[in-house]
Amino acid sequence: MTETAPKIRLYVDAVLSAGAAVPLLPDQAHYLFAVMRRAEGDSVALFNGRDGEWRAEIAQAGNRRGLLMVLKQTRAQVPLADLWLLCAPIRKARMDILVEKAVELGVARLQPVLTRRSQSERLRPEKMRAHMVEAAEQCGSTVVPELVAAQPLAEVLAGWPADRRLLFCDETRDAPSMAGLNAPPPAALLIGPEGGFDPGEAAALRGHPACQPVSLGPRILRAETAAIAAIALWQALQGDWR
Ligand code: SAM
Repeated sequence: MTETAPKIRLYVDAVLSAGAAVPLLPDQAHYLFAVMRRAEGDSVALFNGRDGEWRAEIAQAGNRRGLLMVLKQTRAQVPLADLWLLCAPIRKARMDILVEKAVELGVARLQPVLTRRSQSERLRPEKMRAHMVEAAEQCGSTVVPELVAAQPLAEVLAGWPADRRLLFCDETRDAPSMAGLNAPPPAALLIGPEGGFDPGEAAALRGHPACQPVSLGPRILRAETAAIAAIALWQALQGDWR
């Protein structure tokens, strides 16, 4: 009888090899046993961002604790396309959507960028990280993208790696359409805040050697829409959707 793939995938920070015992975090145990009503003997899929996906069996089930026994690898590690997303912090509910969709769409790194018109107090890195793990578990990724600490735009530009094209999503001018752009990995997308970049920031971006302004069409998109559209376009043209 073919085994049905377990519906539940969990990200664990543990070595995955046949026979390894992996203790569950309290929240993972609560989710598995209290919410999803799984019990000893049931299967789950595990990934740790390095060793691909493994089937594991619930060896012990308790109240906010439990133990998994790793059985066998079911999928090889699938690397992400080398695309970073840099975005100015936006309103919390919209930032949550942006972070979740960026993971589903396959960015390899997410970095909040502090700009003159963004309010950085909106940032909750630990919540962002939890959203990223949840999105990776849901979408079948074997990697949780890296979350980099927020940095002011000027610092990001000053330390920018020369070999990585920075596609600056610029709604203010007749920038070339991203659709026609050849920007292979390593690449990065930069999305501004609700109020956009201020003129000084825009000038610094346009003057940066690694930076290429790009248009996402004739309409002004919300930041989260722009991020989703830009990632999707890049993935289709240059990334892992081809
Ligand atoms: N300047 C905008 C306005 O007048 O409402 C506010 C910025 S927009 C809400 C947020 C960000 O999304 C922008 O900074 C830009 O990075 C990106 N964006 C929105 N529409 C875009 C477009 N048509 N082309 C390129 N980028 C766009």
